[in-house]
Amino acid sequence: MGLFTIFERETVYFKDKTGFIELESCPTGGIICTKPLSFINKKMHVSRTYWLNKDYQRAIEELKIAYHKTFEINQSDCQPCAVLFRSTIIKSLEAIHEDLLKMTSGIFKANRFKPSLDMAVNVLAEVRAGE
Ligand SMILES: [Zn+2]
Repeated sequence: MGLFTIFERETVYFKDKTGFIELESCPTGGIICTKPLSFINKKMHVSRTYWLNKDYQRAIEELKIAYHKTFEINQSDCQPCAVLFRSTIIKSLEAIHEDLLKMTSGIFKANRFKPSLDMAVNVLAEVRAGE
């Protein structure tokens, strides 16, 4: 676990700004979805901090809360926004899952991350079932 790993992980997370969601494509100009979006972005930011500290379970928990928040956007105009928010959150969950797969396999595997990996697998299955 050197600096390079942290840098690499950070790059994955912020790739083409997918780590934080922007409102450019909202048909209402963000009138409806600004509030849930700011909540979701806050959760994603907190999740990222947990992730960088290898507190994977809390990182996943924050993303799960953010994911459920997207269902509060039920106006038809903002359905594309809700879908975009969900897919961005799922991408973050997938990146954490990949990270955990690396941590729990190979010569330097850390079994203490196994419960976090199980949690990532379960939450991913849950959110994918909701798509
Ligand atoms: Zn919107």
